[in-house]
Amino acid sequence: MRRASAVKPAPPSAPSDLLKSIGLRRTPVRLGVLTVLAEAAVPMGVQQVLDKLPEHTDTVTVYRTLNTFTAKKVVHRVRGEDRTWRYALGGGETAAEPAHAHPHFVCETCGTVECLERSEIPPALVRSLKVADGYAVRYPEVTLHGVCPKCHA
Ligand SMILES: [Zn+2]
Ligand SMILES: [Zn+2]
Repeated sequence: MRRASAVKPAPPSAPSDLLKSIGLRRTPVRLGVLTVLAEAAVPMGVQQVLDKLPEHTDTVTVYRTLNTFTAKKVVHRVRGEDRTWRYALGGGETAAEPAHAHPHFVCETCGTVECLERSEIPPALVRSLKVADGYAVRYPEVTLHGVCPKCHA
């Protein structure tokens, strides 16, 4: 498993290689969704992804594809102000991939959701929360809400 570089992390490989590596057949929708997410600067909602795909693309197939990618940890997802999921390339905050343990930012003004790739969720965060015994915590998810630099002017 390759680690993301310190700079803007490039997608680990071409969409078709990525599909092969997780044992999924190449389909136009899968390739299309991966390409859209690879080119996106911020996590994208389903509608935003659909807008970039050919007009006849089936909405249900795109939903299903994003769910599959999430389950396969090809993408991770975060909710925006409107409580709908946004998707971004990368494995998400899992113990297996601590490199991706970054917080997210939701702008209350423009609604943009961002991956704060330069920030890291402190590994000691979960311990510091002193969760009661009996809870098997797998990973933390940190979403910060506020005003983004673009809206801050
Ligand atoms: Zn904003
Ligand atoms: Zn993210």
